[in-house]
Amino acid sequence: MHQYIAGNYRDGRGATGTRIDPATGEAAETVRYADPADVDDAVAAAAAALPAWSGLTPGERADALLRLAAELDRRADELAAVETAQTGKTIRMSTEFDVPGTIDNATFFAGAARQLQGLAAGEYAGRATSMVRREPVGVVGSIAPWNYPLQMAGWKILPAVAAGNTIVLKPSELTPGTTLLLAEAATAAGLPAGVINVVTGPGPTVGEHLVRHPGVAMTSFTGSTAVGRRIMALAAETAKRVHLELGGKAPVVVFDDADLEAAARGAVAGAIINGGQDCTAATRAYVQRPLFAAFTARVAELMDQVVVGDPTDPGTDLGSLITHAHRDKVAGFVDRARAAGARVLAGGAAPDGALAAGAFYRPTLVVDAAQDSEIVQQEVFGPVLVALPFDTDDEGIALANDTPYGLAASAWTTSLARSMRASEELQAGCVWLNDHITITSEMPHGGYKASGFGKDMSAYSLEEYTNVKHVLASRESGPERPWHDTVFRVRA
Ligand code: NAD
Repeated sequence: MHQYIAGNYRDGRGATGTRIDPATGEAAETVRYADPADVDDAVAAAAAALPAWSGLTPGERADALLRLAAELDRRADELAAVETAQTGKTIRMSTEFDVPGTIDNATFFAGAARQLQGLAAGEYAGRATSMVRREPVGVVGSIAPWNYPLQMAGWKILPAVAAGNTIVLKPSELTPGTTLLLAEAATAAGLPAGVINVVTGPGPTVGEHLVRHPGVAMTSFTGSTAVGRRIMALAAETAKRVHLELGGKAPVVVFDDADLEAAARGAVAGAIINGGQDCTAATRAYVQRPLFAAFTARVAELMDQVVVGDPTDPGTDLGSLITHAHRDKVAGFVDRARAAGARVLAGGAAPDGALAAGAFYRPTLVVDAAQDSEIVQQEVFGPVLVALPFDTDDEGIALANDTPYGLAASAWTTSLARSMRASEELQAGCVWLNDHITITSEMPHGGYKASGFGKDMSAYSLEEYTNVKHVLASRESGPERPWHDTVFRVRA
């Protein structure tokens, strides 16, 4: 059953879909999708749970999230196995990154729940005092993608409930498994029924109904820029707050004083992590000309060493992509680049033999593609890195900024001045210096430009999920107020 509403599993009343195991191409399970009436039930459950949940003290909500973290830790092996089965990502990623990352997020937001501070200011020279209250927004409707199903669910659910909201989350219809387990774990940890609800189904029916729903106070979305634009337009109908974490096309800028081996390893790890299906994945390496040949040679060598195979095998570095259709989309980008004159120095094909039935694609390095070509400008979302040379520092930074996206970027240099310049001038919500991909629960994640707005993780994300209320209390003891005279005079 793929709906979790008011603390219980149930079947959706919508259409039926088949989930395919991306690593084998075989049917894995039948999914009964939600229909709009199921979404209405989930929103009603979240609304019913809101007064009691938002009425808890921050300390009580923190205790609940700490119990949830402990419950997730107890179920870590199951969560990792399901995460790998539904996505095709390697079991090493699920075990060492996705599951512990989500547990760490839960403990972080348990602490952050107790740090929701308002400000106070005196006004009118002692005649009134103002304070700021932070209040939950209400019922949050969230929509998440398939690339990191568990972590994305955590990034949406944990700050929302820490701040006293209740939530209805729609995972990708391709990957509902670990989101449902997270909701189930929350119930086992003692979170009241209705605080976390999950509806599974396609975007155009279930997702759009959730965005449009008048009972939902805000929409938080992680996914593609195209769908983000649609969600923003739909949310305008009810003037809803939106928080959008969208696509990316992260550059890796390698200056001529960089540690070449560090930059090459960082670029490969950043490019193939999660099959390259990561919004901050390294996708474009701009390398200062003196290092270009050595960098591309080393990256190609490292990519050729990557072990592609069964995602459940702990020895595998790169599992399958999410679906066969997505693998074909990734391959299409590379094939068209090649046809336009680009050269492929590593990969550039799906593996054959025993892996031919799965949605696999080899780590791929492309050179000689034009800056304005689609493989440089658009999100490929596969293990594909394009490398381009640059001459001056100005040029390297300008090329790095030359896409519609602005989620993340990295700069590789041993110069403090270049580091500081890159951190200022790269237009992205995150700039890594001599690293790529690393995230921590304490630090914000979010985009510039077409990568969206708003922050996940960190105390900043609590801003998204709270309303700021100004409360002004008059300290006058009688009926006079200093400003009334300007408006009207009491004449009798
Ligand atoms: P997607 O936009 O196709 O789908 C994301 C979610 O939106 C899914 O749950 C889908 O069912 C739903 N959806 C689709 N159409 C909808 C509609 N009309 N109304 C409401 N909901 C709808 O994205 P995806 O393919 O699942 O994920 C990959 C994308 O997510 C990439 O672009 C990637 O960069 C982005 N992403 C961004 C971040 C970030 O933090 N910025 C993180 C992870 C993934």
